[in-house]
Amino acid sequence: MPKILIVEDEPELVKVLRSYLEKSNFEVITAYRGDSGLTAWEQQNPDLVLLDLNLPGMDGLDVAREIRRKADTPIIMLTARVEEMDQLIGLELGADDYITKPYSPRLVVAKVRAVLRRSVAEPIPSQVLNVLDLEIDLDAHTVHQAGKLVDLTPTEFDLLVAMASQPGRAYARMQLLEASQGAAYEGYERTIDAHIKNLRAKLEVDPKNPKYIETVFGVGYRFARKTSGD
Ligand code: CA
Repeated sequence: MPKILIVEDEPELVKVLRSYLEKSNFEVITAYRGDSGLTAWEQQNPDLVLLDLNLPGMDGLDVAREIRRKADTPIIMLTARVEEMDQLIGLELGADDYITKPYSPRLVVAKVRAVLRRSVAEPIPSQVLNVLDLEIDLDAHTVHQAGKLVDLTPTEFDLLVAMASQPGRAYARMQLLEASQGAAYEGYERTIDAHIKNLRAKLEVDPKNPKYIETVFGVGYRFARKTSGD
């Protein structure tokens, strides 16, 4: 389940957003101040942040700046300030989208889905991905491991690309389902486990002790971050 962090100081808004997001099968965590929002982001590693601009403790722009300095977690700014300048600053900071208040919770859910889809599906600009000893050719749809061709199904290939594009980043099963199927159907998340099992059987020397695809307990999977020896 993708985890959404809401940083917003108006309890009524938080309540409504939480209810809509939870009904849409997102896990929701909340913070009512900018500084505690940043702490929550650091500790809980959400998949996306809904960030109010005007916050006590620490301004939303500063929170976004701090997050961007360290990671590329998607950010959607929520703002009651209508001045376009503020919105532009938000986007220049690397915010992925913004929503002006008052907004419909349905729109927020739709934007959250759209931004998450973009952030998972977006391949890196280079058409060949070199990670650990894998060479993944995005045009030819081939994978070589230490120079040797590995035979993957299209679904296994898409899953590998989604994860290997951002080593170290944890992906929820729903995100991987979207990345590999183009859509995520509730209740089908567990099919990802079967694909991961097959991928590991093809790539890993010891599938029980994976070197490429790691399990992130309670979340999903991630591609191993490059170690200094590689
Ligand atoms: Ca506010």
